[in-house]
Amino acid sequence: MSEPDRDPPPELFDNDGSYICDSCGEEIVIPLDPVAGHSQTFVEDCPVCCNPSVIHVDWEGAEARVWAESEQDRF
Ligand SMILES: [Zn+2]
Repeated sequence: MSEPDRDPPPELFDNDGSYICDSCGEEIVIPLDPVAGHSQTFVEDCPVCCNPSVIHVDWEGAEARVWAESEQDRF
């Protein structure tokens, strides 16, 4: 008998992730919200250089993949 696919228990999810700021190159650690969706995109101002970055969070099981792109690149 095989178990049906299910999400890992909440305690296994990453609580935070980090991205490299596209503007200043600093590694920025941000809190993550696993319940906000498997694929998240939001804009966050870098706490070091104050430039906005578009943050992408993709959940692969209980692990989050986080990366950033410069907001200006979209225009
Ligand atoms: Zn920065």
